[in-house]
Amino acid sequence: MATTTVTPARPRRPAERPAEAWHALAPAEVVARLGGEPTGLSAAEAVVRLDLHGPNRLPRAARRSALARLAAQVHNLLIYVLLVSAAISASIGHPTDALVIFGVVVANAVIGFVQEGRAERSLDAIRAMVDPTASVLRDGHRVTLPADGVVPGDVVLLEAGDRVPADLRLTSAHALRVDEATLTGESVPVDKDVAAVAADAALGDRTDMAFAGTFVTAGQGAGVVVATAGETELGRVGAMIGAVERLTSPLVREMDRFARQVTVVVLVASVAVFAYAVGVAGHPVGDAFMAVVGIAVAAIPEGLPAVLTITLAVGVRRMARRNAIVRRLPAVETLGAVSIICSDKTGTLTRNEMTVRALVTGGREITVEGAGYAPSGGFLEGGVAVDPAADRPLEELALAGLLCNDADIRETGGAWIVDGDPMEGALVTLAAKAGHDARAARERFARIGAIPFDSRHRTMAVLVDRGTDGPVAYLKGAPEAILAASALEATADGAVPIDVGHWERAVERLAAEGLRVLALARRRLPAGTDALAPHDVAAGCTLLGLVGLIDPPRAEAVAAIEECAAAGIRIKMITGDHAATARAIARRLGLGDDPPTVTGRDLDGADDAAFRRLAAESTVFARTSPEHKLRLVEALQGTGAVVAMTGDGVNDAPALKRADVGVAMGLKGTEAAKEASEMVLADDNFASIVAAVREGRTVYDNLTKVIAWTLPTNGGEAAAVVLAILFGAALPVTPVQILWINMVTAVALGLTLAFEPTEPGAMRRAARTVGRGFLAARLVWRIALVTALMVAGTFGIQAFALARGHGPELARTMAVNAIVTMEIFYLFSVRFAHGPSLTWRGVVGTPAVLLGVVGTVAAQLAFTYAPPFNAAFGSRPVPLADGLVVVAVGVALFAAVEVEKRLAARLGHRGAPARAGTPRRRG
Ligand code: ATP
Repeated sequence: MATTTVTPARPRRPAERPAEAWHALAPAEVVARLGGEPTGLSAAEAVVRLDLHGPNRLPRAARRSALARLAAQVHNLLIYVLLVSAAISASIGHPTDALVIFGVVVANAVIGFVQEGRAERSLDAIRAMVDPTASVLRDGHRVTLPADGVVPGDVVLLEAGDRVPADLRLTSAHALRVDEATLTGESVPVDKDVAAVAADAALGDRTDMAFAGTFVTAGQGAGVVVATAGETELGRVGAMIGAVERLTSPLVREMDRFARQVTVVVLVASVAVFAYAVGVAGHPVGDAFMAVVGIAVAAIPEGLPAVLTITLAVGVRRMARRNAIVRRLPAVETLGAVSIICSDKTGTLTRNEMTVRALVTGGREITVEGAGYAPSGGFLEGGVAVDPAADRPLEELALAGLLCNDADIRETGGAWIVDGDPMEGALVTLAAKAGHDARAARERFARIGAIPFDSRHRTMAVLVDRGTDGPVAYLKGAPEAILAASALEATADGAVPIDVGHWERAVERLAAEGLRVLALARRRLPAGTDALAPHDVAAGCTLLGLVGLIDPPRAEAVAAIEECAAAGIRIKMITGDHAATARAIARRLGLGDDPPTVTGRDLDGADDAAFRRLAAESTVFARTSPEHKLRLVEALQGTGAVVAMTGDGVNDAPALKRADVGVAMGLKGTEAAKEASEMVLADDNFASIVAAVREGRTVYDNLTKVIAWTLPTNGGEAAAVVLAILFGAALPVTPVQILWINMVTAVALGLTLAFEPTEPGAMRRAARTVGRGFLAARLVWRIALVTALMVAGTFGIQAFALARGHGPELARTMAVNAIVTMEIFYLFSVRFAHGPSLTWRGVVGTPAVLLGVVGTVAAQLAFTYAPPFNAAFGSRPVPLADGLVVVAVGVALFAAVEVEKRLAARLGHRGAPARAGTPRRRG
């Protein structure tokens, strides 16, 4: 999908005519005109329509063509300078030089072109992993499918957080609100209902429609698809998908800028050196020109931009392999600087595989046997089996859990799985264990009204028709909320006034064991009630009992949390769950024996200063609502932290946007949350965030290594020539030889650093301080040192060769080999920015490095010993003994840099070892 999108020929779409005023028609009329059914299309009909109308996909923003990409490689000040140099060299009788310069340009362009093409393709593939989905009725069943499979006539189901997949005429709406900012620019969500509006109503006033690309912020609804793809209102305004994101990040942009500045400085310096060489030192113009070209080519970091881009792309690919899908590239860098991760509990730190383990009802505590969602297992009270069929309170509690419930369980391939919310799935399993047939019970007690779960009230309620008993509301939710609504508690033969204290103690007991506790209640409503309003279940209910569910911590999360502690990253667990449950789980996850805990209520009562203190000092944030997350992010950022925040619901979007790295759940997250995030977790797993942080640190390290290697090697080559001219010494290498070195090493050595794996200590040091320029004092010093060592090595070997009585050609050949050898050894040194390189791993290197080194050595052997090369470059075969001295120069440079590393470490130049809680400044 990278460069060409093939559009298959297909029949002309019937919708290619003026838009119908669907909003002015009654829903039934719309369905009829579209030839659909209120219960949706059949799968077969959908296939036919998909063929007719084409996929529900907006036109893709044009990708750069291959030619344009190739041109972009060359369209660059650095390259222009090289091309002009090549042209002049050729015209003044230096064809070899011109060819080699041209070789440098071509090698760079090809590598940049191929690697960037691969990077763009893999980014596309990675992005496709988070393509939106839609819930649609097909053959009367709810199915989730990729949004591009939606066709006109389909019935689409909407709930909070969904991205509307196509233009819909609403057929039902319960408290449905839609954010239409993408389409109308109106930032206040619009209330929707099904009543038709005037034919001439403006787009923003078509309250009976939901438009493609807008987001559901609250409520539930359904609608029939009236337009897809380019026929939607979004398509009509010319919106496209896949707007091409430049493969870049702040550091890469900064480096790009820097490379251009270096080019300008090099040009100015070259002109000055040229003037000096001709005017003062009296060199012939042609020779002086070629020397200056050599300097320019050596000093200009022409390969740098491509290598940095590739480094970034390699990082994104590695993150995707670890289930972390980066949606915005700068996040790759930011991830490496994260100092606090705020994580949801359920499903991220825990497995979100719920099983009911305990019940409290009718004054008794009952244990439930069985594992997972399989509907097998009995009930025990004090070790004695209980017969659910003969136990009214138990049976009624289980029935309430089944009816006040939108989930289903089913068996596939021998395993029982849940369709819907896992906690509700566990309640379906409980009902089955208690002897209820889920489908029969739900048919018998048909639902006539509902108040969907919302995370602010933490309750959900349904109204069912209990036949002779009349309409009954069942509600479930957080115990505090349900207890507050209950006046009575159910007993085996009726109901008595509720003993709230007794129930609160029971809740604490279950929660302290790490169980998630849910309360269930019931309320009879007057005959004839046919809808449920919040006030119907706000008071006067009868408590049926408590349900305690286990949700085991993820084993990987425990290890990841340990890794974070070593890396100086603090974890904050943010959950809607009960404080005691959250604390028990936090302990099991290794977040401390007595993790400091606050609740949403504590936070609400705190002023700004107190809030910031609570945010900084607490580990567990219980009974919070999504609104707290935004304040938390802001408070933590106020302390200088770089914050990653997870979320899944539509209400999490503001916090996800505000966080330095917003992390949305790929499996259970809403489209709104994904849209607001920098990164999406394909597996909803906390450990994947930590893996991404590790890769983020690696990318940043590698970017720095590329810079730390390229600048001094370029600088050393150029400085040697400049010094020779300034001091009137013989050139240690000829211009064409410098070009050769540059062509071989920039390609074969520099690029390998993009593929470096994570350094062993990467997760054992504190997070990087953001806002510091990449040219930190330490790096500048290193560049200066290595440049000086390279110059000394070059002149040293030249002096040595001449002293041995070798001719100038052989001396230069040895100097060229010495420069390349030093670059190879320095490459090994630079691979470990934070530790010694003299380890087995350091010496052996990675496949990329070894390949690069082998390639370079082969090229150098050809340069030194192959007669055609000798002729072209004026090189001479080097005797073995002298060859060993050349290698010794490389070893000496390696040793010097390693000693410097140690000294610097001892002098404390390195970042202090990781320590959680160190305040960090932001730039
Ligand atoms: P997190 O994912 O942030 O760790 P959570 O999933 O526990 O937290 P919520 O989904 O907001 O957070 O749930 C908060 C509380 O609301 C739960 O502890 C439970 O008491 C209640 N609750 C959750 N889901 C439902 C539901 N479907 N019906 C009724 N009550 C629910």
